[in-house]
Amino acid sequence: MSVCRLLLTSRFANSRHPKGRFRKRQPLLYSGGMKNCNSCGKCCETAGNGGLSATREEIDWWETHRPDIFSYVQGEKIWVDPASGEYFARCPWLRKSSDGKKSTCDIYDDRPEDCRHYPVDIAQMVRDDCEMLERRDLLDLKRAQKKLDVIMIDSRPPAGQWP
Ligand code: SF4
Ligand code: SF4
Repeated sequence: MSVCRLLLTSRFANSRHPKGRFRKRQPLLYSGGMKNCNSCGKCCETAGNGGLSATREEIDWWETHRPDIFSYVQGEKIWVDPASGEYFARCPWLRKSSDGKKSTCDIYDDRPEDCRHYPVDIAQMVRDDCEMLERRDLLDLKRAQKKLDVIMIDSRPPAGQWP
């Protein structure tokens, strides 16, 4: 998963507000089409085996403020099992509800920007079978991307406007 790391120099720098994967529910900004995130967790299921990245700034912040998170970092790599030195096959912070239908993140407020910026584009959502997508979103990808960018406005700049 690739997300522009230069964002750390933008106005979103060091923001730790809870957006992205498992966004808190917001009012729908458009009628029809894209839904709010329902915490299905499918996007996090694909984040194991080196599927996430973190900036040096994030890693340094974890080292100082969240040593529990930092313990799963090796060099620039996240999330790595300290016992084996290998990537976790599945994100170690992902928790499923007892019925398996909902997911939560154990490090929600301090998760990487890779997670907070998700979803970045429609292709990523299609790849992960993201449940925010409606059939009509797939019929007009440009419009769907605009809707997504509005939904994500507090978390990242619109696609194509990365610094
Ligand atoms: S760190 Fe949290 S939001 Fe990111 S993949 Fe893991 S469970 Fe999902
Ligand atoms: S796959 Fe989509 S709907 Fe499911 S948790 Fe991720 S962002 Fe939310």
